[in-house]
Amino acid sequence: MPIQILPARLANQIAAGEVVERPASVIKELVENSLDAGADKIDLEIDRGGHKRILIRDNGSGIARDELELALSRHATSKISCLDDLEQIMSLGFRGEALASISSVARLTLTSKPATQSEAWQAKAEGRDMAVQLQPTAHPDGTSVEVLDLFFNTPARRKFLRSEKTEFQHIDETLKRIALSRFDVAFSLKHNGKLLRHYPKANTEASRQKRVALVCSAGFGEHALNIQSQYQGLHLHGWLAVQSSNTPDHQYFYVNGRMMRDKLIHHAIRQAFEGLLPPEGHAAYVLYLQLDAREVDVNVHPAKHEVRFHQARLVHDFIFRALQDALNQATAEIAQEDST
Ligand code: ADP
Ligand code: MG
Repeated sequence: MPIQILPARLANQIAAGEVVERPASVIKELVENSLDAGADKIDLEIDRGGHKRILIRDNGSGIARDELELALSRHATSKISCLDDLEQIMSLGFRGEALASISSVARLTLTSKPATQSEAWQAKAEGRDMAVQLQPTAHPDGTSVEVLDLFFNTPARRKFLRSEKTEFQHIDETLKRIALSRFDVAFSLKHNGKLLRHYPKANTEASRQKRVALVCSAGFGEHALNIQSQYQGLHLHGWLAVQSSNTPDHQYFYVNGRMMRDKLIHHAIRQAFEGLLPPEGHAAYVLYLQLDAREVDVNVHPAKHEVRFHQARLVHDFIFRALQDALNQATAEIAQEDST
């Protein structure tokens, strides 16, 4: 075969392989876009575990009519413009791939109205070249994205979709992770027409605690130890607890607002809990690490689950020590209570 440039849809489908694994990954990308747009109210409607339909509506800044086409194109982003921006990234997105990828493997409609524009516009990317069609419509300030028939044109991917129930659980978990990262935003989730989750805005310490209880469990919300620590530009705060093995895992760790599954962090946490866990127990935590954005590289994985710390040792030891101190202090207090 001669060398040829791939048609836009095919190129986007290949890119989609890395970021769009299942309905929950669509939710993650779309909610992150709404958060980056400054929304403080995000509503999700899902049908049939998201295979059939995903609708997300936000009250964020919106996308101007003239930019809708770009928003659907690959490598088009409003979030970075140079390498320097990438090195101190504050937004969740930056790759400019999500909307193009999703619309290459589903029927995606993007509808938006910035507050400064008098009418709303709707865009779809169709055909092999993903030519964008625009039409005027009605919509309040903000953006809606509707995704129908996920993987309808990629049978290999569709085969990996699990049952409606399993896909919904992944979506639910994705929303939990996000809800724990942004207490200042209200979220709701409907499945097959039923309102199943509602996390109202939580702007006070008491309401934040309430959201943690709602997302994790009442038990965790009540018994978790509050921690707060800082050292050399590193800040760690959040909640931790020891849980018995029959409760579901609550293990959430955020780096600059981004949920992470990171080996180095896991190791530090495991070490801190060592010797304190009863045989059947496990560590439960909701923790937030804050540090200078230039000290971490988030561009390690397309789904951004991993980070690279420039000073890995320092970060590891800081987390370990902060947790160990908090746990030791709590254990000492319990011992003291027991002896009096
Ligand atoms: P990225 O988030 O990496 O920039 P996306 O493909 O997810 O790439 O989105 C492309 C662009 O579309 C974004 O940079 C943003 O300007 C715009 N956009 C997407 N979703 C929204 C939204 N909900 N509200 C406002 N703008 C949005
Ligand atoms: Mg994005």
